Amino acid sequence: MNRFANFCAGPAAMPTVVLERAQRELLDWQGKGSSVMEISHRSADYIEVAERAEANLRKLMGISDDYAVLFLQGGAALQFSAIPLNLMNGGTADYLTTGAWSQKAIKEAERYAALGLGKVNLVAAGDGTDVPDVSEWQLSDNAAYFHYCPNETIHGVQIFDTPKVNAPIVADFSSCILSEPVNVNDFGLIYAGAQKNIGPAGLTIVIVRKDLLDRASAFCPNVMNYKNQFDNDSMLNTPATFAWYLSGLVFEWLLEQGGVEAIAVQNRKKAAMLYEAIDGSDFYSNNVNPKHRSIMNVPFRLADDGLDKLFLEENKKAGLLNLKGHRVVGGMRASIYNAITPEQVAALVAFMKEFEARHG
Ligand code: PMP
Repeated sequence: MNRFANFCAGPAAMPTVVLERAQRELLDWQGKGSSVMEISHRSADYIEVAERAEANLRKLMGISDDYAVLFLQGGAALQFSAIPLNLMNGGTADYLTTGAWSQKAIKEAERYAALGLGKVNLVAAGDGTDVPDVSEWQLSDNAAYFHYCPNETIHGVQIFDTPKVNAPIVADFSSCILSEPVNVNDFGLIYAGAQKNIGPAGLTIVIVRKDLLDRASAFCPNVMNYKNQFDNDSMLNTPATFAWYLSGLVFEWLLEQGGVEAIAVQNRKKAAMLYEAIDGSDFYSNNVNPKHRSIMNVPFRLADDGLDKLFLEENKKAGLLNLKGHRVVGGMRASIYNAITPEQVAALVAFMKEFEARHG
């Protein structure tokens, strides 16, 4: 088997044991003579898969009955629209921007505000290397919701403490869901595309407090309407059945690892290894305020960007793949989600040191 260390930002590496299990089960799932991909989402067999996945996600994140857990499609990007359509409700929506993804989210919200659904207020705007100090935040009174992105996948800027605001907090957890414990009760809505820290693309998790389910605009498409999806167990239309099943396998794997608490310890160690290597050299750099450095996505630059191409070619040969930074920021980026092992991060650090010794 030739599986490389895959530092892709998403779709991203999945645990090998999960893929092996899916492979074993693919043709003849649970002795049923067909793949789980080939059965009706309305069948009792599939509903059991769906319910188990939800129960395990609830267990992993400590999600109470006050919250609906939805398994939707359209990616996190569709939620940029679904959120204002469901929650703006004639009020003002507060948005904090700290990088590329929260900027995209506010742009979509502004589109609906322009159509008369409410107002959008920019609370503060970060420059992609830091989070504006709370003293600079311009919060509105009685906001319909406060939106932010706890982990900016492209810029590698993470907000570790949940903001203290009066409005329901809506958070884009796409690149940090299940990476560290969070108190779900602090949030009105948590959403995440599955293709990073969970598994396959095509599935979007939405965890929404049930008292927020009755605020949708009449313009909200039926499949984007949280209440309608909740009333129909996320099966208003055909869900992404295989992605849902695979995510369920990842939840079981995560429970076997000791849950989010245990994986968080490992995630912190992995990130520390990389940042130490970056900070300990003049050859590599990361310009994010250390207090807000992401433990999931680690962007870094080489002192001489003329060496970028060679760095990427050589680490590919070493079995370390997909380290090219996003075009918006350039340089390199190592995405070290739950499925990346400490050994893989150690191999990357060893490669970086060796490359520096040869070219620094
Ligand atoms: N938000 C964040 C933080 C992301 O990292 C991404 C994907 N890279 C998105 C939103 C968009 O997700 P999707 O492609 O699932 O729409």
